[in-house]
Amino acid sequence: MKVVVAADIGATKTRVALFNPNMELVSKVVLNTPQEGGEEVIAETIIEVFNNLVKEFSKLEVIAVGVGTIGPLDIREGRVINSPNIRLRSFNLRKPLRDYFGVPTYVVNDCVAAVYAEYMSGAGLGRKNVVYVTLSSGIGAGVIVDGHLLLGKDGNAHEVGHIVVSYDSDIRCSCGGVGHWEGLASGNNLWKLVRKLRRGWRGSSKFYEVSEVEAASAVKLFEYWKRGDEFASYVVSELVKINAAGVASVINVYDPEVISFGGSIILNNPELLNMIHNLVKNYVINRLPEFVITKFGDDVVVYGAAYIASKPPKELVEIQA
Ligand SMILES: [Zn+2]
Repeated sequence: MKVVVAADIGATKTRVALFNPNMELVSKVVLNTPQEGGEEVIAETIIEVFNNLVKEFSKLEVIAVGVGTIGPLDIREGRVINSPNIRLRSFNLRKPLRDYFGVPTYVVNDCVAAVYAEYMSGAGLGRKNVVYVTLSSGIGAGVIVDGHLLLGKDGNAHEVGHIVVSYDSDIRCSCGGVGHWEGLASGNNLWKLVRKLRRGWRGSSKFYEVSEVEAASAVKLFEYWKRGDEFASYVVSELVKINAAGVASVINVYDPEVISFGGSIILNNPELLNMIHNLVKNYVINRLPEFVITKFGDDVVVYGAAYIASKPPKELVEIQA
């Protein structure tokens, strides 16, 4: 059987999957992303997982390898450079994987992979202007305009998480900037927003009490919000405004026909999407696109990586052929 090896490297989880040439998922393993080791430890982990998967099948022939990874990237080298969201800040992917498998190997930002999955067989099928936005431990986007996949000089043309959504905010993003969308609204940084909103809050709330003693996680916030907790509802209403401002900037800049949303925050709390949609109107000049939640769920990046490997977009072939 011919297969494509696809991987999604997240800050906390790594997914490695095999797809057949019809882009059907054949096998998948989810594991913790290595946080320590040498420059090639993540590539070595992908190879090790592949070698374990191979034992379940007879006569596998790998025809291509695709990886979607947290950034930022040096896309020419297929390396991640100085990522703020992972302890192992820089690591090499493309060369060790290509050397091992000896087949065409492509490495892109995870959201670039995701938007390509949407474009090839998801919400963007038959459309030329497609955006994928992830609301997760980080915030990012992948963008296709006029049928062109946007990459940028280093492969980082879509760092929308660092759009400024609050110019006078004192909340610092993990990248060092202030007032960034990701710094205020991502799963990793939400506790900073909670801490700030606590200062002005007067009222009784269990979530208010809980968030005093521990850094409030995104999971806790949404848990209390769903129970009707007043302070949690206040935080979520502010969070929705921040997300609406970020999404509106994406619409104003890229003019998409559809935005597909993914990432744990939106997948676990899909009701947020309508709330964001209702507020976005206040901030946009462009006609509103359709809002959908990705049909690929948690697997959107591995699907995208598989499509990138089997039908590489011309923009990428020019750089990584
Ligand atoms: Zn930032």
